[in-house]
Amino acid sequence: MNKHVLDEPQIVLDLPRDVDAEVAGDIEKESVFVSPYIDRILVSDDRRSVRVLLRRGAPIDEVMDKAKRYLAAMVRQVSGFDIKVFLETKRRDQGDYVRDVNAGLVSRGWLHDYGKGQVAYSGPVLKLARLIDRTAGALYTRTYKAQDRHFPAMIDAETLKACGYFDSHPNAVTFLGNVVEDFDAIEEFRKANSCSEGALLPARDHVHIDGMCLNPAACFPCYPALSGHVMHDGECHTWLGRVFRYESRNINGLDRLYEFNVRELVFAGTEAYVRDCRAKSLPIVEELASTFDLDCRIQTATDPFFATVSAAKKFWQAAQEVKNEIKIPVLDAAGNTKLLACGSINLHGNFFGTRFNIQADAGEAAQTGCVGLGIERWVLAAFTQHGFDARRWPDAVAQEIFA
Ligand SMILES: [Zn+2]
Repeated sequence: MNKHVLDEPQIVLDLPRDVDAEVAGDIEKESVFVSPYIDRILVSDDRRSVRVLLRRGAPIDEVMDKAKRYLAAMVRQVSGFDIKVFLETKRRDQGDYVRDVNAGLVSRGWLHDYGKGQVAYSGPVLKLARLIDRTAGALYTRTYKAQDRHFPAMIDAETLKACGYFDSHPNAVTFLGNVVEDFDAIEEFRKANSCSEGALLPARDHVHIDGMCLNPAACFPCYPALSGHVMHDGECHTWLGRVFRYESRNINGLDRLYEFNVRELVFAGTEAYVRDCRAKSLPIVEELASTFDLDCRIQTATDPFFATVSAAKKFWQAAQEVKNEIKIPVLDAAGNTKLLACGSINLHGNFFGTRFNIQADAGEAAQTGCVGLGIERWVLAAFTQHGFDARRWPDAVAQEIFA
């Protein structure tokens, strides 16, 4: 293909080496972060080349250099290792999975999509979201005697850095900006908007970012709050956290939101305590899947990190089995079954215990672990597997959400 034909909006590149389906999926998903001039990068069916979909006016050499560096980083990922399945549940409902659940919920007036990765919901969607959250919370209280907590949606950059988030997911961070504390700048912003049709944002040099962010992982805000505590055997804490991950153009209905809710459980204490807590989480997920009658599995996680750190992190994650994912089958736009990551079960070793001075016993850094359940994804999965007819849902759930 001639790389210099500018009005041809795509260029084919050979991949530096063959990749498996999972890495191919990651390449496509993360490609929205490569360049403002690249719309998408799509991997060919034989997974030997990619099509780089360019936007008009792209400075070809510069953009292709970026694309090549991105692909070189992505293909270094460890791929093809065995994914271990730790738990698998089968639903009792015999009906087919339902397509286009997002559209179905919107048309019934139960879901409003703002179009930027946030949704509003009501009726059965809200009732189901609350029921999933409440059921999980009650199981955590019963099984772990977990203490209820509340944490803010904002988090400071120092905490995120200490949590290692800038190393693992620098592309997903959201910083908050404020108009500078300057009378003229504030006045200019006010005046501009008083007579404009749409919203006018302040000039770039009139906005400052002072290090407040939107929290991207439910458990992070708990570690500073536990700092200086001595756990002795161990403690469990649970709450409903609001989480924000910048997904650029990957947002898509309830599948991939910018802002979502997570029922979080954090356990901290001795190694034996944390190991025991993790083991108890599998039957809890099994009970949740049974309550909502869902096909579900727990397996080794391989979620994508930002390209340049992917290789090292992914290997570590798989080798240590430190992260398991709760995957629930749903349908993609073409009607094919795909596994939606609806939660994760993580062991952190003494990483947070050391960084935030949380002690298990005098002098020894606590081990920690967490279980996060993405509420909106559980809702999407449940509607995909049971549809909109109350008779296909478990009686107890149907009575509560369709009442
Ligand atoms: Zn967590």
